[in-house]
Amino acid sequence: MNASVDQLSLSDLVVERVGFGIFVLDRDMHVQMWNRFMQDHSGIAAVAAIGRPIFDLFPDLPRRWLTHKVNSVFQLGSFAFSSWEQRPWLFRFDHDRPITGGVDYMQQDCTFMPLMRGREVIAVCVTITDVTHVSIMQREREEAVEKLREYADRDGLTGIANRRCFETQLADEFARWQRSGGDLSVLLFDLDHFKRTNDQFGHVAGDAVLRVMSQRVSNVVRKQDVFGRFGGEEFALILPFTPLADALCVAEKIRLAIGEKPVEVLGVAVPVTASIGVAAARPGASGYEAMINDADAALYRAKREGRNRSVAVS
Ligand code: GH3
Ligand code: MG
Ligand code: MG
Repeated sequence: MNASVDQLSLSDLVVERVGFGIFVLDRDMHVQMWNRFMQDHSGIAAVAAIGRPIFDLFPDLPRRWLTHKVNSVFQLGSFAFSSWEQRPWLFRFDHDRPITGGVDYMQQDCTFMPLMRGREVIAVCVTITDVTHVSIMQREREEAVEKLREYADRDGLTGIANRRCFETQLADEFARWQRSGGDLSVLLFDLDHFKRTNDQFGHVAGDAVLRVMSQRVSNVVRKQDVFGRFGGEEFALILPFTPLADALCVAEKIRLAIGEKPVEVLGVAVPVTASIGVAAARPGASGYEAMINDADAALYRAKREGRNRSVAVS
């Protein structure tokens, strides 16, 4: 057998069998070669494709984009590339991944190679690689990162903002107040005799009380308010654009919502009340921490004066 013929048929076999699409276009965008992958995925046989304009075979192709890409390879004689991240797919091919991947069609990376005879580009070879699995993995990774970010900001028991997230938002609100003025208040509240609640009804009941109480508060706060768990059975609420007197009214509304009725846990009625300290941003304060200290002092007074009450810093 002639060695060069043997070599030729071997490369033909490889081009037929590789797991990605290979086809060749001439200057007029006519198909010159069409491998098995392209046949299998398009349903168009090589004999039907060769010699035909690619846009007749696939009227949906992005005509201007593809013509420009191929022309530039003819002109410059250099490779061009298109990633699925820029253009998810060139050909509307089905993929063999589960629908749950959330991807409509086979995601494709494309390369455009100049085929040279001497210094002249005589045709452009296009390859189509199925990267559906990569795009699905990337999407899953992005979703996981998004979830982690969400979890990083949430308190595990109650689902509201955790202390770190709360303090970040308070620092932002305080900086905005320093720039623009207006009013900014904060509430700090603490459940009354919660140690006793745990001792009397058990820790599981205590946890349930914390969850229900968070829900009750969430139901009455405004959209722009930030509600967070400060730690243990202590919670805090940022009230943007709210002067101290109004913040005291909000505190009373929240106190009444918390203590409105006992929390039912496994058929047992667990009473719950809270004490609330109220403070507003003061001109001259260096940071938001001063507001928290003021609210804490007011909360301490509320406890000392008998609990189940709201006190504004005087
Ligand atoms: P006071 O009215 O003065 O606030 O009394 P208190 O008993 O609430 O105050 P103290 O700070 O002494 O006790 C807080 C209790 O809250 C102690 C702790 O066991 C309980 N606690 C803190 N975090 C959790 C939690 O996540 N779940 C449960 N079940 N209990 C918690
Ligand atoms: Mg406490
Ligand atoms: Mg307490």
